Amino acid sequence: MKQIGSSIEGAAARTAPVFDPATGAQTAEVVLATVKDVDHAVETAAQAFRSWRDTSLTARSRILFAFRELADKHRDDLAELITGEHGKVLEDARGEVARGIEVIEFACGIPHLLKGEFSEDVSTGVDASSIRQPLGVVAGITPFNFPVMVPMWMYPVAIACGNTFVLKPSERDPSPSVLIADLWRDAGLPEGVFSVVHGDAEAVNALLDHPKVAAVSFVGSTPIATHVFERGHASGKRVQALGGAKNHAVVLPDADLDSTADALIAAGYGSAGERCMAISAVVVVGDADPLVAAVADRARALVTGPGTDPSSDMGPLITRVHRDRVAGYVDSALSDGAEVVVDGRGVAVAGGEDGFFFGPTLVDRVTPEMSVYQDEIFGPVLSVLRVDSLDEAIALVNANPFGNGTAIFTRDGHAARRFRRDVSVGMVGINVAIPVPMAYYSFGGWKQSLFGDAHIHGMEGVRFNTRLKSITTRWPDSDRGADSGRIALHFPSGDKR
Ligand code: NAD
Repeated sequence: MKQIGSSIEGAAARTAPVFDPATGAQTAEVVLATVKDVDHAVETAAQAFRSWRDTSLTARSRILFAFRELADKHRDDLAELITGEHGKVLEDARGEVARGIEVIEFACGIPHLLKGEFSEDVSTGVDASSIRQPLGVVAGITPFNFPVMVPMWMYPVAIACGNTFVLKPSERDPSPSVLIADLWRDAGLPEGVFSVVHGDAEAVNALLDHPKVAAVSFVGSTPIATHVFERGHASGKRVQALGGAKNHAVVLPDADLDSTADALIAAGYGSAGERCMAISAVVVVGDADPLVAAVADRARALVTGPGTDPSSDMGPLITRVHRDRVAGYVDSALSDGAEVVVDGRGVAVAGGEDGFFFGPTLVDRVTPEMSVYQDEIFGPVLSVLRVDSLDEAIALVNANPFGNGTAIFTRDGHAARRFRRDVSVGMVGINVAIPVPMAYYSFGGWKQSLFGDAHIHGMEGVRFNTRLKSITTRWPDSDRGADSGRIALHFPSGDKR
């Protein structure tokens, strides 16, 4: 059995199985880091920080450029590793790698991004400036659903800013991070600046409690995000914790039927719904029947199968337990009185009988109190809710505890503007179902979808990974005699500055 990772405690360490979700077979075991392993990684990173923070911006950005080239060269290798352990179709895995590389490209511009401010003569003979300095050791804790892209939201920016970085990827799909560590080394990154600890809650808690970890970036489910935020804060760290989601698409009566149905199919069923920006609730204003029929036709035509098969539109879910949990939501929707228009339970995949497959599912006449609406399902289940007005739709979206992404489909600019302005959600799409910001903007939700002040990557990422310092400078002019005899104990009042 292939073994991923290692522990300084040898055989005493625990392991976890890694599966190929398309076959259900165990393909590897990952060694789970102990508190001592985490301590070793953090101490090494703290040591490496001493010289990395003194490495020039030019040298840092050159290493980032080299890393970008290597990541680009290994796109397909990374995508294959993703599909092998996560299950998503290869083309989607390639897309994930592409979006991650865009953050490296953003971070290559670090000499520009870290430029400070300078004001001459803020008072007579006095200058003011501000600089941003690195924090130290930054830890990243990431979910299974984007094993390459989500870590790449974090470490290119953290490292470019002069921090060292310890990544704790999901134990369900750990292999891509092993290759990433090799690419960093080959790019010339000094030892200890980037390292990976594989593990589960024990490793996460050890990172949260470690006194030499200065900041934690977390992405995962809301219950764990809450835990990370509270425990990280309790030990004095800067924390950004991105959580789960329940994303709504609001469809107005004037929306283009075909392009809206196409967009909903991609946003609801892409990556088998295992995306934090997946649309899971469609809120239709007015008559929903034509849209439900158009989405149902398209959903029935989708092919569920192994991610390695180019004819598959949708791969399997991550585990058997998760597949059964998703099925449970469809069972409860039926017993709650909703109408299952397309049913993905028990989908047949030739040769994939033991895989964790679940077909596209469309549930109509869902109401807000049903569990199929209330919970994040993280599977290919699209619920349709029917409302009478845009006001009602906005109120529904705003009443939801999550606030990651949302979209409106309409031809009415005024309605779209009102939606954009009034909706309590961090990322908004107008006729765009998955409004994921580009690398040079920042990603993040509101409410239960993000704990902490900073969104991730873009300029918010630079700010999260640095600490601001403001400097006020006076150089006494010794030729003209110093300002002696002008001692004042009061604040300058303005006139004589
Ligand atoms: P998860 O919360 O189970 O795991 C995330 C990380 O936390 C993993 O590294 C895991 O090892 C660790 N972890 C798990 N249990 C823990 C515990 N009890 N204590 C400490 N650490 C623990 O999430 P997941 O199932 O891997 O990923 C899916 C979730 O991530 C979904 O809720 C999805 O919405 C969310 N997600 C959010 C975003 C976003 O940007 N907001 C992006 C991707 C995924």
